[in-house]
Amino acid sequence: QFGLPGRLALVTGGAKGIGAAIGRTLAAAGARVIVADIDEAAGTALAQDLGGLFLRLDVTKPQEVDAAARRTAAEHGAPDVVVANAGIVHNAPSVELRTQDWARVIDVNLSGVFHTCRAFGAGMVERGSGSVVCISSMCGEIVVWPQPQAAYNAAKAGVNLLAKSLAVEWAARGVRVNAIAPGYTATELTLAGRSRPEWYDTWIDRTPMHRLGEPQEIANCALFLASDASSFVTGTVLTVDGGYTA
Ligand code: NAD
Repeated sequence: QFGLPGRLALVTGGAKGIGAAIGRTLAAAGARVIVADIDEAAGTALAQDLGGLFLRLDVTKPQEVDAAARRTAAEHGAPDVVVANAGIVHNAPSVELRTQDWARVIDVNLSGVFHTCRAFGAGMVERGSGSVVCISSMCGEIVVWPQPQAAYNAAKAGVNLLAKSLAVEWAARGVRVNAIAPGYTATELTLAGRSRPEWYDTWIDRTPMHRLGEPQEIANCALFLASDASSFVTGTVLTVDGGYTA
């Protein structure tokens, strides 16, 4: 039931980090994987490695996302699995947070998830089957201090309710929608935090398992939600954080 033979899976932000681990894991389970990212070099290399496809996709551009969904549907049919994973971080105290930085974080992390779900979900709903996994964060549930990232937190909280809203709208149409809320996970995005030991040490100290998560540990949960193993699971936020928010 964890297998994905013959399924088509699309992963946004799939070229690196957690998205790349998810792509590898879905491919190992038998899916044909579309790596959708703005990073052409890393995305193409990974897609080749997986025997999948690379799609240049900026999730902040709705027309581009709609066109990609139409092209994908025409060439391969609607995906069976969509993982809306693309995300960025911007750290700044709120009184210093520039409007354009607020907007960029909301654009990629929240509107980007909506554009992806709307464009690719339409074909799934029409067909009457599919699983959508949105990559949120534990920062959508709690404020992780002392890292000042109000825009990121607000966007991720939005992703959680967006996933639940779509889950309820699409439940009777055969499409499940869930989110994963990772804690600190060892990717470029997080390891850069080592240069700020006052943050990095806090993350480790406050994680009951006393370590960062590995991208593979997030990917294993994405496989569960993508596959028929979770056939009665929809509208949930699966927290994967080594106990941080417990
Ligand atoms: P990463 O920076 O390693 O990878 C992000 C990927 O998204 C990159 O390949 C990048 O090119 C791509 N991307 C960025 N903007 C894009 C856009 N506009 N359109 C398409 N692709 C775009 O980050 P990561 O750590 O792997 O994070 C992946 C997701 O997991 C994000 O949504 C992030 O918020 C979430 N997350 C990460 C952590 C963590 O500790 N690493 C914790 C909780 C949640």
